[in-house]
Amino acid sequence: MKRVGAHVSAAGGVENAPLNAQAIGARAFALFTKNQRQWHAKPLSEKRIAAFKANLEKVGIAPRHVLPHDSYLINLGHPEKEGLEKSRAAFLDEMRRCEQLGLEQLNFHPGSHLRKISEEACLGRIADSINWALEQTRGVTAVIENTAGQGSNLGYRFEHLAAIIEQVEDKSRVGVCIDTCHTFTAGYDLRTAEACEATFAEFDQVVGFGYLRGMHLNDSKPDLGSRVDRHESLGKGKLGWEPFRYIMNDPRFEEIPLILETVNPEIWPEEIRALYEFQE
Ligand SMILES: [Zn+2]
Ligand SMILES: [Zn+2]
Repeated sequence: MKRVGAHVSAAGGVENAPLNAQAIGARAFALFTKNQRQWHAKPLSEKRIAAFKANLEKVGIAPRHVLPHDSYLINLGHPEKEGLEKSRAAFLDEMRRCEQLGLEQLNFHPGSHLRKISEEACLGRIADSINWALEQTRGVTAVIENTAGQGSNLGYRFEHLAAIIEQVEDKSRVGVCIDTCHTFTAGYDLRTAEACEATFAEFDQVVGFGYLRGMHLNDSKPDLGSRVDRHESLGKGKLGWEPFRYIMNDPRFEEIPLILETVNPEIWPEEIRALYEFQE
């Protein structure tokens, strides 16, 4: 079964996210387990944790269909000691919050070299950061998202994802999330069924579908290869509907969260319905 949802609000408390997902007809969802623009957060109370689990059960969404996203401040490949330590501590805290909520994965952007170290050194640092966090947690998989490659962000080539995975010790707890907008603006075409075929064949060869833990379904404002990260509502950007029709009819994308991060939350129910209607 396909599990489509969106990155829903957790305003007022994480326990509201499953209810917000249900309200838009989602069978999966993403959320921030803390304010994504701040370094520190109050620990989750027992009461909130219990309410989150109860609501998840109530709406009938399994923990493996929830894909939390970490804070945008974190850079696991930071070139400097202080920034790296701060990022690692914040990432570990996010992993632990997922653990507490009974969730099985945490989605994050790999990191940036800030033009101070080589790509290779930065990818090594990211892998070390993941190893360090996995050693101190249980049951939560680190899910690396591919990026548009804006600025000095790594993760815009499938080879970057593969290089990180190669250096992670516990391969059973590392995976990837592919964002359609990022893939496209990083230079991989998805505009036709043939282009999807070729791009996902390349992904399978370089990374492997065995590592795919989730997808972000976004159309793109910028063009192919622009290396700019700007999402658009489905069918309204440079990608059009074709890649989403393709994904909804391909069994390789079953039973993983397929998450909308499109720009207009008001039309998420329609976008979700349109996606399910593509299924033949
Ligand atoms: Zn992301
Ligand atoms: Zn994304």
